[in-house]
Amino acid sequence: MRVFQFPNALRDELRALHVSIGFIPTMGALHSGHLSLIKKAKEENEIVVVSIFVNPTQFLKGEDLEKYPRREQADKRVCELAGVDYLFYPNAEDVYEKDEVRVCAPNVRGYILEGATRPGHFSGVLTVVMKLLNIVNPTNAYFGKKDAQQLKLITLMVKQMFMDVNIVPVETMRDSLGLALSSRNDYLSAHERTEALKIPSALKKATSLVIAKEYDVETIIKEMEAILAPLEVSYIAIVNREFVPLTKVETGNSVILVEAVVGVTWLLDNIWL
Ligand code: AMP
Repeated sequence: MRVFQFPNALRDELRALHVSIGFIPTMGALHSGHLSLIKKAKEENEIVVVSIFVNPTQFLKGEDLEKYPRREQADKRVCELAGVDYLFYPNAEDVYEKDEVRVCAPNVRGYILEGATRPGHFSGVLTVVMKLLNIVNPTNAYFGKKDAQQLKLITLMVKQMFMDVNIVPVETMRDSLGLALSSRNDYLSAHERTEALKIPSALKKATSLVIAKEYDVETIIKEMEAILAPLEVSYIAIVNREFVPLTKVETGNSVILVEAVVGVTWLLDNIWL
């Protein structure tokens, strides 16, 4: 595996290869969720590129930018063992200048749900993803369905900016108890980890209601709230695959999303129905 710090050096190297490239952008503290993206990329491309970059522009003031888990040596080893060909590991000043062109998240879908609790977050995400896609110029780029709104906005950006890359969604990986894997799970105490299981339980309940033909969004959300209590719920939402809020679940075209705070850690999860 070759490790690159500087964007232009990596870009020149990859451009000269003329092979299919699978790309997985991450913020590190790699877990099995990231590995499932790498595995899929390895199956579908000649070479695989991973980036590890804790992107400062997607953190709001007062968020966990400083304390976000950083495990450079362990992550490098994980990538090597997973068969990654190129690892991009830049510093912030390698990626950003002082007075920057920015990509703006769309006014509606970029500012609901996660975009409402973290206004400006998605502009930071889209800006860095635009940069990373331009540096790597991949054939396929892999993103987790766990971050469903992020995945939607990146798909919209690529389409609306006529970018030449295929965005590949990947299923959410969970631990044996059902908790969606996340680097932020590191922050949870043993007790909080148990509390956090209310999130997948609420999504399971929603699924069983829909299977039993209960499609009313208000009813489903009430049932989910009962399971999530006493967690602090930032939002429960049921939207269609275009992220337009629904009043009735449309099977095959819906996403049910939850964000809840466990201790001081906010956790996201969702189910596509
Ligand atoms: P992150 O390092 O958290 O920015 O995540 C990097 C990529 O991995 C994103 O596309 C995430 O959606 C994806 N990802 C994170 N957690 C999971 C998971 N549990 N299952 C599948 N993909 C995930």
